[in-house]
Amino acid sequence: MANMYIYDSVKKEKLLFTPQVPHQVKMYVCGPTVYDDAHLGHARSAIVFDLLHRVLKANGYEVTFVKNFTDIDDKIIKKMKDTNQSLEEITTHYINSYKADMQSLNNLPNTIEPLATNSLEAMEHLIENLLKEDIAYKLEDGVYFDTSKDKNYGNISHRASDENSLSRVESNLEKRDSKDFALWKYNTDGVSFHTHFGEGRPGWHCECSAMIDKHLSDKSLPYAIDIHGGGADLLFPHHENEASQSRMAYNQELSKYWVHNGFVNINGEKMSKSLGNSFFLKDALKEYSGEVIRFYMLTTYYRADLSFNTEDLEASKRRLDKMYRLKKRVYDIVKNETLKPLIYKQNILDALNDDLNTSKAFASIDEFINFANDKLDNNPKDKNLKSQIVDVFHFISDILGICFQSPYSYFQFGITENEKNKIEKLILERTEAKKGKNFALSDKIREELNSMKISIMDTANGTLWEKI
Ligand SMILES: [Zn+2]
Repeated sequence: MANMYIYDSVKKEKLLFTPQVPHQVKMYVCGPTVYDDAHLGHARSAIVFDLLHRVLKANGYEVTFVKNFTDIDDKIIKKMKDTNQSLEEITTHYINSYKADMQSLNNLPNTIEPLATNSLEAMEHLIENLLKEDIAYKLEDGVYFDTSKDKNYGNISHRASDENSLSRVESNLEKRDSKDFALWKYNTDGVSFHTHFGEGRPGWHCECSAMIDKHLSDKSLPYAIDIHGGGADLLFPHHENEASQSRMAYNQELSKYWVHNGFVNINGEKMSKSLGNSFFLKDALKEYSGEVIRFYMLTTYYRADLSFNTEDLEASKRRLDKMYRLKKRVYDIVKNETLKPLIYKQNILDALNDDLNTSKAFASIDEFINFANDKLDNNPKDKNLKSQIVDVFHFISDILGICFQSPYSYFQFGITENEKNKIEKLILERTEAKKGKNFALSDKIREELNSMKISIMDTANGTLWEKI
């Protein structure tokens, strides 16, 4: 197995990745709160951790990938009031729309997708453990976590304590310390669940700790999971609080490695709802295919901030077009496993094993495209060469999740169902005209298609078409 390096945002250095159990990786990524459609920040985080998932698999690891849905939250309750819908109606709708969006980005399915509402017993167990030890305490409005009981509190985010008091922790003045946060809230606005310590609902941080314990933890190991992931904004307070709760409630550290992706900026500003510059993924998907958006997001190094703009998106589309044009040149060739693989596969893997260095990986891909096009220009009928090129494309689509379609359907993006029916009808008429040796008619139909910006190619498998 090749060496794989990943930047740990807690230790603040690039580390050699070694899972706790050989060949097996347990990974948890904080999922969305389901009260609205996915925005570009959600898309980026999902693509980054999907890339990590794919790279781990390419290195031969068996990966258990868990991403939760936070389906109890103040924002969901507010939406219930605003729309007069039930909690379930809202969360089911947004869970389904999130899943459809992630599928259009070609993210691999998650192994487990736990819901907070299905993990209440695990949260109750966590909080009871902490109450028993006086690490949690009850106030009038909820159960709080006593951060002063954990001498390692702060080790995850390295935030100074004066900074902590400025964070968005609940502002109950009765708290033992301003850093303490709510594990359970009694103020429920009509959405509550029964526990031994009172009717209420969970605080956000305790959801992830409880779900990780329920679905992934093996208490014989020092850490509950190998990799914990999320956006850089989650490092504090969310991940700090998750880590502290788990450490104190289960006597086990939460994660061996912590990985965080950078922000998405729009017009030079960090994307946020309060600034009104939140950009829904579904709006971007009206103009561009999920594959182009994925390619674009992959071209920025995952730890850097991504400055979303349409010029770069267009440039990414042109790069992807170039890959598909090469793919078309080798279309219908079956890969031959006995041939020596081209060096580019190894170069791409080496780049990604170096803390997901996509810039280096795409530089190798550019070299591959130039090499392959030059070779094909000189030897257009070389089946072995074509088969080696197909092999690299298989590798690229497995590890990066791009270039997985047939080149013909890729170049048909943006054609409506009606247009498609019309084009296919014309192609059928042309085939009939050719059969009847009516070449004047078949030429006329080809011209008509060209005027619709459709080019056609007659192949052994029938007539193929694409948008020009
Ligand atoms: Zn979380």
